[in-house]
This record gives sequence, C-alpha cells and structure tokens, in this order.
Amino acid sequence: MKMQSDDEFSSFSSEREEEDEPPSFQGQKLMTTAEQLAANINRKQIPPRKLEFPLSINSNAFLQSFFPGVSEKDWNNWQWQLRNSFTSIDQLKRILFLSDDEMGSMVDSDDVDPLPLRITPYYASLISQGNVNQAIRKTVVPVFDEFILSEGEASDPLSEERSSPVSHIVHRYPDRVLFLVTGFCAAYCRYCTRSHMVAKNKCHVGIKAWEAGLNYIRSDKNIRDVLISGGDPLSMPDSHIQYLLKNLREIPHVEMIRIGTKIPVVLPQRISKNIVAILKKYHPLYMSIHFTHPDELTTEVQEACSRLADAGVPLGSQTVLLRGVNDDVEIMRRLMTGLLKLRVRPYYLYQCDPVPGSAHFKTPVSKGLDIIRGLRGHVSGYAVPQFVVDAPGGGGKIPLLPDYVERWSNGELCLRNYRGDLHTYPDTV
Ligand code: SF4
Repeated sequence: MKMQSDDEFSSFSSEREEEDEPPSFQGQKLMTTAEQLAANINRKQIPPRKLEFPLSINSNAFLQSFFPGVSEKDWNNWQWQLRNSFTSIDQLKRILFLSDDEMGSMVDSDDVDPLPLRITPYYASLISQGNVNQAIRKTVVPVFDEFILSEGEASDPLSEERSSPVSHIVHRYPDRVLFLVTGFCAAYCRYCTRSHMVAKNKCHVGIKAWEAGLNYIRSDKNIRDVLISGGDPLSMPDSHIQYLLKNLREIPHVEMIRIGTKIPVVLPQRISKNIVAILKKYHPLYMSIHFTHPDELTTEVQEACSRLADAGVPLGSQTVLLRGVNDDVEIMRRLMTGLLKLRVRPYYLYQCDPVPGSAHFKTPVSKGLDIIRGLRGHVSGYAVPQFVVDAPGGGGKIPLLPDYVERWSNGELCLRNYRGDLHTYPDTV
C-alpha cells in the first residue's frame, strides 16, 4: 500500500532534517485482517527489550498486525511515523471497519473544502476498529457531516486574518502575539479552528517565511510573550525549532515563549532526547498540549510528558468540548485528574468554535458550565480548567463560570457551594 503520494512526501521531506533514513512502510505488504490485531493484543507478554522510547502492549500489537517486519526502533522514530501516517479513507479501510457516514466523507463538494486526513500509526493504534462511536475515533476520522454548513459557521471564526499585521503573526492583545509558524500537523482534528490555514501546503512554510514575523516582534517592545502555534510547531525539524527559539530568545523584550502543540498526544515519539535538550536551552518556555480524552493518556504520552516536565517545561492542557467525545463530567474528571498525574496542569476548556461542518461536535454552552460545576469542589482545584468561549469575530477568550451567587444584598453575599448548600459571607467593607 502506498501511504503517501510522492509529491506530498517530497515537499515534506525537503523540510526535514538530514538524518538516517528509517525504512519506510511503502511497498511492504500490509496484513489485512482486523482479527489479527485482536489476536496480538491478547498476547500477554512483550519480550523485554531496551528501547529508546516505551512501546505499550497496544502499540506493539498494532505494529505486529499492520506493519509486520517493521522494527520497534522504526516505530519509535517520529519521522517514520509521519511518513507512514494514514492519509486517505482507502488506507483507513485496511485497519478500521468504516461506517457509511465515514465512507461518505469521500464526496466531492463545491461548498466545503474539508481538512485533509492524517493520523499517525501510533494514534491509529488507539482507535477502535469496529466502534464508530469511540470518542477519539470521532476526532480524527472524517464523516459526511463535515460537508453540512450550519448558520454562523466561518472558516476563520476568530477573525485571526483580520488581526494579522504581517504574515504568520496574529496580534490581538497588547503584550503578546500568536506566531503561526507552520500549517502542518501530525494529525488533523476534525474540528480545527484553523482549518482555513492548516494543511494548505502539506509541508512546512520554511524559516525564510518567518522573517517578517520575527522583525515585527523585534520592532514592538510591548510584546513580552510569544505563543508559537500553527499547525503544529513540534512537527518541524529540530534545526527549525532551534532557529526559531534562538531568534526569539535573542529579542530582549520577549520575556516568555509558549508552544501550542498536539504532538505529545498524537506523536509522543517526537519528544526525543534531542528536542528536549533544545527546548530546555530557551527557558522560560511553556507548553500548552491539546488533549481530548482520557484514552489518550498512554504509557507513551506519559513518557513524553515526563521528559518535558523533567526538562523544566511547565505543561498546561487545552481541551475542546466536543459532543459525543468528552461532553461528560466523568470523562472530564478522568481526563483532568489523569493529566495532573502526568504533571500537566489543566488550563483551558474551550467551547467548540463554529468552523464549517462542525455542528455535529457542538454542545450547548450550558454543558461546559455543567462540567465545571461537576468538577469544582469534587476534584482538586488544580484539576479544574477555565471554561472559555473564544468570541467569534476576534473578541478574544471570555471565561465563563457557573453562577454560585444566590443573593447579594444589604452587605450579605449568599453563595451556594459545590454540594448545593447555602452559605453567607458578610460583605460589609
Ligand atoms: S493539532 Fe491543532 S492546528 Fe492541528 S488540526 Fe488539530 S487543532 Fe488544528
């Protein structure tokens, strides 16, 4: 099976680092029986081996079933994972039983330009083969609903292009900018806010394209915080990441740098010792990691987060609230408390942005408030993210809280606590 067109691969590989070429899956025979995976998962033991990166029982079963002959070393090579990503429904048919709705995502439409498909073999190993309602499957496998345009949906719902003084920069708040350094992601989320810009060139834009952005940041002394995002910045080669961080760190007024990424979740093998060594040179460096569901908290993700946390990178999570995926207090409780165990502090819970074809993911805003109410007081405060609506049209993030105030009059504040009991506070100053 050919996993990636030559054009796609050559444009991407031209941006890659010069490294030993790991063997590609292209041209090798793929096992076609889904039953084989179940048989391999049922194997109790994985022979102990010394690996650079852990290989969970689940990953090993998937590797043996669908990439026979590929070594564990290659599986753990992030560039092998990218080269062998699943990028078409035909490829997914070899590993999943697809529903009519999923098969329907192959239609041609003049109205909607859907996001391309990309799922790393590692992330594919977490997807249920037969359960089309499995949460993480819904986030990366396209369905026909993506072609249904609903009222209020827009390809750039946050109007980032209107707040862009130079290419790749979004400057909305006075002291910080968003630097969109690539349009490439290791996996394309079906609800992506930046669907207007991601995956357009199927490769990185390259370091020359950042010059206007770097000059803009150099010229505005009010910018003390740069959030590097995209696309996924950690999908870029080490040398490009190093170049970017070095140039930003050399700007005296840039006090902190943040990276927004989903790579530790969909391609944890990317968090190599080499990239960690690069990142730790440019502190204070923060990382916001895009998590969606507790099924993502695997042995491999734990290793990736440990490496980053041990390197002194403060980790926060960002989660989009999605219907039928994580719109449930118990799922969120497992996700948020699980993240704390990985040393990732839950940061934002986002109301889903109205991007084209996303209505099937949308929850009422009250659902987010119910989830916060179901967390606050019931789990450690550290496990409660801020629920925010990113205001369409460029209004920025607006936090929402359940209403705990019952009455507030005559110097007395009457509050309802997490158990529903009423308490008064003398507000007399
Ligand atoms: S990783 Fe982020 S930028 Fe990439 S598709 Fe997902 S939400 Fe969009």
